[in-house]
Amino acid sequence: MKVCSTCKLELPLTDFYKSKSKKDGFYQECKTCNKKRLAKYRRDNKEKIAESSAKYRRDNKEKIAESSAKYRRDNKEKITSRAAKYYRDNPEKYSDYYKKNREKILEISIKYSQTHKKQISNYKTIYKRLNPEKSYDAVRKCHKKYVSECTDNYLIKIIKRNTNLSPNKIPQDLIELKREQILLKRTCKELGNELKKHQNRN
Ligand SMILES: [Zn+2]
Repeated sequence: MKVCSTCKLELPLTDFYKSKSKKDGFYQECKTCNKKRLAKYRRDNKEKIAESSAKYRRDNKEKIAESSAKYRRDNKEKITSRAAKYYRDNPEKYSDYYKKNREKILEISIKYSQTHKKQISNYKTIYKRLNPEKSYDAVRKCHKKYVSECTDNYLIKIIKRNTNLSPNKIPQDLIELKREQILLKRTCKELGNELKKHQNRN
């Protein structure tokens, strides 16, 4: 048993943290009092602590980047499954995020596809070899949907081809206009075909 220097209670030694520098091998202050003191210190020195941890992050950028890269390497599965679970539990957050950051995401994925051309084509080759029927079907279906539904990505591709605007600089209004224009063109074409059929019959 030992008396705490702060609360003056007599407590078992398990209620004190060990200290090599103290004569009896334990701190003068009990664990509860120590925790309280630290919590008070953190409350009273919020700014100072925030500043010094920001300074630590600035001064140790490389060290931090290395250790977080190591953590990601060592915990790949844990990270993936945690992200998958989060995605399942919060689908609305993801679609909100996607809507808010559409341009940023587009830019990143375009950059990625430019810098990883080889990896992507390797991946495609492997995927095709493993799933000969599926990949052909999936690609065909996907493309059909992309064109027939006039997806944003399809429209962006057309606008990019006609204007040389970089995809992240294309305003949403222009995409909507292009959609209207294409749908109108398709309707005209259909009407034209109908008219031709009609004329041929007569
Ligand atoms: Zn105490």
